[in-house]
Amino acid sequence: MVKETTYYDILGVKPGCSNDDLKKAYRKLALKYHPDKNPDEGEKFKQISQAYEVLSNPDKKRIYDQGGEQALKEGGMGGAGFSSPMDIFEMFFGGGGMHGGDGRRKRKGQDVIHQLSVSLEELYKGTVRKLALQKNVICDKCDGIGGKKEAVEKCPVCNGSGVQVQIQQLAPGMLQQLRSTCNECRGQGERIKAKDRCKQCNGRKTCRDRKILEVHVDKGMQDGQKIVFGNEGDQEPDRDPGDIIILLDEKDHEVFKRSGNDLVMRMSLELVEALCGFQKVIQTLDQRDLVVTSLPGQVVKHGDVKCIPGEGMPVWKDPFTKGRLVIQFVIKFPDKIDPEFIPNLEACLPPREEVIVPDGAEEVNLVDLDPEQEGRRRDTRQAYDEDEGGPSRVQCTTH
Ligand SMILES: [Zn+2]
Ligand SMILES: [Zn+2]
Repeated sequence: MVKETTYYDILGVKPGCSNDDLKKAYRKLALKYHPDKNPDEGEKFKQISQAYEVLSNPDKKRIYDQGGEQALKEGGMGGAGFSSPMDIFEMFFGGGGMHGGDGRRKRKGQDVIHQLSVSLEELYKGTVRKLALQKNVICDKCDGIGGKKEAVEKCPVCNGSGVQVQIQQLAPGMLQQLRSTCNECRGQGERIKAKDRCKQCNGRKTCRDRKILEVHVDKGMQDGQKIVFGNEGDQEPDRDPGDIIILLDEKDHEVFKRSGNDLVMRMSLELVEALCGFQKVIQTLDQRDLVVTSLPGQVVKHGDVKCIPGEGMPVWKDPFTKGRLVIQFVIKFPDKIDPEFIPNLEACLPPREEVIVPDGAEEVNLVDLDPEQEGRRRDTRQAYDEDEGGPSRVQCTTH
């Protein structure tokens, strides 16, 4: 039982979720709330990052599960112990982040990450998806100069620095210096006189262009896998364009859950099927029908797990090899049975064990119990116990 669920709630996962679920939750939220996409959600981005940092680290997770945020702080792992959200992001996505490449690769432009939602069927069969994107391309009319070559002049607004400095008075005697990118030259330090500007790009050197990318999703590709289109990012003068990175996002499937190359499904059986044999049809992700048979005389128990080799997901780059289809059986028991049939039923089941009731044994009643409600009750009792036995209580009594 975990003490606090705040970090789990931030990521929208349940305690005890798999590592894959955790990664997926972080990936989705981090891309959504990255400052490049959502500049006003810096605090949220930070929370997501901290929650992921704790829950993805087995040691920190254990401490958090046992003692909550307080325990992390006491162990020196909270507060200042967190990494910067950007570092976590870059570590997770590898390389330059949402728009990366700034520090290490001066000559290369920014990478752009796009998430592409794909169904399990598409990952099973493979598919080609067309993705329309807007991107900056070097203006072909002026070759990225922005106008006539001799018309380029130093920007008079920022004096060539590309930065505008504004002094703002917050209160009498309190001044604040605001630095922003120069609007006139958009930080480039030079501009082209209005009359000499290229008509096509209006002096911007680049134009917006619509580009269709054909994304080949191969059989067996996985959730979170990257497909990289080298140098297809925004074009800028004097720089190599960055990459466009397509990140696959696997949609949940109604029947199958993926586990590596295996597919896992639940199969619900009536008690009669579990005891007397059954036939069931399973439709595969490529719409074939598989028939599974359990012969009369074979008994399937609740919680039994069986598998069909070769009916799981194809292996990426080796699509003729497939994982297993794992079936978890769930047996539905009848709510009641007509007492009239009991003798016949009893006659065909293994005999019951004989019970000897000792003299003076007490007759008691069995009452239904809702496990969910019981869990909640236990939580409140635990909190109560801690209050009672905690140091604050001891202090109170000594007063
Ligand atoms: Zn300027
Ligand atoms: Zn132009």
